[in-house]
Amino acid sequence: MTRQRILVIGGGIAGVSLGSELAHDHDVVLLEAESSLAVHSTGRSAATFLGGYGPPPVQELTRLSEPEFARLSALPDMPPLLSPRGGLFTAWDDQSAAALTSTIVSQSFMTELSAEKARALCPTLRVDDMALCALDSSARDIDVSALHSHYAARLRRLGGRTETGARVVAADKSGPQWEVRTEDGRSWRADRLVNAAGAWGDEVAETCAGTGHGLSPRRRTVVIARTSERIPADWPIVADVAEAWYFKPEGGAILMSPGDETPVPPGDVKPDPLEVAMVLERVNAVTALQLRSVRTSWAGLRTFAPDRAPVVGPHPDEPTLFSFVGQGGYGIQMAPALAQVGAELFRTGTLQDTALAAAIDPGRVPAVAEH
Ligand SMILES: Cc1cc2nc3c(=O)[nH]c(=O)nc-3n(C[C@H](O)[C@H](O)[C@H](O)COP(=O)(O)OP(=O)(O)OC[C@H]3O[C@@H](n4cnc5c(N)ncnc54)[C@H](O)[C@@H]3O)c2cc1C
Repeated sequence: MTRQRILVIGGGIAGVSLGSELAHDHDVVLLEAESSLAVHSTGRSAATFLGGYGPPPVQELTRLSEPEFARLSALPDMPPLLSPRGGLFTAWDDQSAAALTSTIVSQSFMTELSAEKARALCPTLRVDDMALCALDSSARDIDVSALHSHYAARLRRLGGRTETGARVVAADKSGPQWEVRTEDGRSWRADRLVNAAGAWGDEVAETCAGTGHGLSPRRRTVVIARTSERIPADWPIVADVAEAWYFKPEGGAILMSPGDETPVPPGDVKPDPLEVAMVLERVNAVTALQLRSVRTSWAGLRTFAPDRAPVVGPHPDEPTLFSFVGQGGYGIQMAPALAQVGAELFRTGTLQDTALAAAIDPGRVPAVAEH
């Protein structure tokens, strides 16, 4: 039987992970607009794994990813893809304490922690005003670069190709095959397309099928602040339960975010100076760090469907276009399972876990035509 030719559009974690799964039994060519892979959301993440993050389908996909992270970490020459970090979730008023209490009750990996124990784990935390604290034992650091490189290398080892500087600008399916044109003037033929274009997911869906999925790219700022003393590497990630700030050690300094979610058009976003100032102020208010200056900062896009679950399956208006978008703020931690689930849906059109298939089905979100 001849192998189907697939074009995967987008070379972030979504494109390389699903592309490498499909390369086992398809001819895969991955088209990436930029001159290298992983320069957008994937290269800008906070590299954290949190078992309780996101809506239920995301938590399920995160849980399903754990054994695959472990399997990949055991491969020769692979560094550990998940490293211990530990997390402290904190509440500072009654309302957020109630929210944190219900998380502690519902998640087996969350336990209430006394103020003294919290201070022992993170001595800079001003625990006197803290209403409640919980230890999240699921929290780990992810080696994003090693994970992305593994998938890209596997895609090539299985005979697939990655083409950079190849922005898809037009796609036509009037004949038996797709004819896709890239900005550099090249054209490409394929039996099926995969839309893994991250923040540009709706643009690509509209180019190929006329309608998008109502995706919302949202800017998130990350700051690395200078500290007067070297920060111990074994501090946990510490977060406000309402996500108004979080911080964790990074190379002897402090990495932090104001938890911003500003809707913006897809693009190469830059940090907003106001958000940078705000996170310094918020982290200073709850710690003794006295942060004054910024070593570096960046921003990236977290792209959500209205219900914040990923959008995975055949496009409702064009079944030969496979949507693999809407990974939100969780696209790294759930990548291993999402790629396997995506590949199964791509090959068979169904999943054994029908509830999960329904929760991520593109048909659940109304198709939107912007232009
Ligand atoms: C600041 C920040 C912190 C985050 N922290 C975490 C975290 O701690 N843990 C976690 O799990 N997740 C985190 N995330 C989320 C995670 O980074 C994303 O969910 C994930 O990277 C999305 O991957 P992607 O491949 O869909 O998108 P991207 O990495 O953006 O890849 C999409 C690619 O498609 C390409 N493209 C677009 N249009 C075209 C076109 N027309 N033709 C060809 N190519 C095209 C783009 O150039 C881009 O390279 C964070 C995100 C941000 C921004």
